[in-house]
Amino acid sequence: MTEARKNISLIVPVYNEEKNIPVLYGKIKDFVVGSGYDWEFIFINDGSADKSILELEKISQADPRVAVIDFSRNFGKEIAVTAGINRAKGEACIMIDADLQHPIEKISEFLDKWEKGAEVVIGVRQSNKGEGLVKKFGSYFFYKIINSISDTKIVPQATDYRLLDRVVIDEFNKLTEKNRMTRALIDWLGFRREFVYFNANERLHGVPSYSFFKLVRLAFNSMVSLSLFPLRVAGYLGIFITIASGLLGIFIMINRYFTQQFYFSGTAILAVIILFLIGIVLICLGLIALYIANIHAEVNNRPMYVIRKAKIKKGE
Ligand code: UDP
Ligand code: MG
Repeated sequence: MTEARKNISLIVPVYNEEKNIPVLYGKIKDFVVGSGYDWEFIFINDGSADKSILELEKISQADPRVAVIDFSRNFGKEIAVTAGINRAKGEACIMIDADLQHPIEKISEFLDKWEKGAEVVIGVRQSNKGEGLVKKFGSYFFYKIINSISDTKIVPQATDYRLLDRVVIDEFNKLTEKNRMTRALIDWLGFRREFVYFNANERLHGVPSYSFFKLVRLAFNSMVSLSLFPLRVAGYLGIFITIASGLLGIFIMINRYFTQQFYFSGTAILAVIILFLIGIVLICLGLIALYIANIHAEVNNRPMYVIRKAKIKKGE
């Protein structure tokens, strides 16, 4: 008898990909033959407006390995991937884009690294054909900013093309926050990581659905969810304004009652007083922000720590 084969779940978020689905599925089907694993393909239809769901139903009827999750509307890729991970039954799962930008043949490298002990394998993009300058600069600055203000470091050009081991899937499923960026959460979880480098293909059909504004929103969302720095900005600004206007105020007083070197109009003095008060208000806002930060952390409800494996003696 042959040894039982390991089961791998492939997770594909789909949003308006009617033309890409048959191509992608064809490639996957060919790839997994002789891969030495059993497969489950989970497609999440993220409220596509085209005929994606019909295509998915077609392939799921013909192939029992195909599971389709059909969202009632568009919830965004982060949520779609989460739904896939939640339902993955494999000993590992691999997430891949439906637009064939992630080369399928690289899956064997992911599996290789996994077999050698990696618990998270991350696809890192080396070049991206057909990506505009704005997007390139945008992502460059995003990673610069987020890595300087956040406690969780994110590898630039690290994509959503990833493999997760069962332990990571189980820990991921315990995370309850709703406003999420999947890859940042995976990075937060830690575990033994390995990287697979690939050249991103051009999107086969259709247009990227992440418009500029959607990306900006995602960037802000992840900054807010990964870092408390934006919350503290008001406080820092307040401290700066208060000290600066306070010193100016003292200088005006000394000038007025002792040295009488300069002339300050009443309006100027009023401006300094107002600035001083604004500074104090901002400091108070900063203080309130600190409390909100605490609430934010509690509401996010992340586990305090993540365990790979615990050896606990029996009877304890
Ligand atoms: N996607 C999704 N929901 C969305 C937007 C995109 O499920 O709201 C899927 C899309 O079908 C594709 C993947 O996420 O499989 C990546 O999307 P896209 O190619 O638009 O993004 P980019 O390549 O620019 O990262
Ligand atoms: Mg794409």
